[in-house]
Amino acid sequence: MDDKAFRRAMGKFATGVTVITTCLQGEVHGMTANAFVSVSLDPRLILVSISKNAKMLETMKESGAFAVSVLSQEQKEMSVYFAGQAKERREIEFTLVNDMPVLPNSLAALVCDVYDAHAAGDHTLFIGKVNHITTHELEPLLFFGGNYRMLQASSL
Ligand code: FAD
Ligand code: NAD
Repeated sequence: MDDKAFRRAMGKFATGVTVITTCLQGEVHGMTANAFVSVSLDPRLILVSISKNAKMLETMKESGAFAVSVLSQEQKEMSVYFAGQAKERREIEFTLVNDMPVLPNSLAALVCDVYDAHAAGDHTLFIGKVNHITTHELEPLLFFGGNYRMLQASSL
């Protein structure tokens, strides 16, 4: 088994797409992530997995807080941008939820304090205690097989 086979297999698991944001000394940093899991209801905990190569890792460790913006199908451009796949840095407009910057017009925004962190291979798993939530009735952006998708309207 090589890395390509692993990524191909993991790509068979369809996910939503999020942008994680944190703020350190007044500077906002954002990053695209699909490794996002709901963990516990009591207390309300979520998990994100951050690569050791991501600038987000040290920034989040230092700030001790972060937010997860769940992207709508209108926000594919934000996913591409915050994955570092755009040529130039842009001015991005954030809105504040409990003093934490989040992407406006997201499906959901969850504002968290870092509750725990575990190094796991070349990633660190951050568990966040959710303090504030906003939600909007919009259609999700999906990621499957390394490509962006939209939800089909039909049900099973
Ligand atoms: P950078 O690459 O420096 O930042 C990302 C981009 O955002 C840069 O262009 C930067 O200029 C810009 N930016 C950041 N903050 C601001 C701001 N305040 N204003 C304007 N521009 C700003 N990696 C993981 O570790 N875990 C995952 O779960 C994960 N899931 C992914 C899912 C998808 C669908 C994709 C496409 C990528 C995923 N990645 C994931 C990869 C990750 O998004 C990239 O490696 C990313 O570039 C790492 O970000 P970074 O923290 O190193 O910051
Ligand atoms: P891809 O085909 O590389 O991704 C398919 C799936 O493989 C992803 O959904 C994820 O579950 C897994 N994966 C990919 N890279 C991983 C990594 N470094 N660590 C752990 N799991 C990983 O999709 P793509 O369009 O080629 O991705 C674009 C870029 O974003 C690539 O550089 C990729 O490595 C990165 N990415 C990283 C993660 C992550 O770190 N968890 C997740 C998705 C994409």
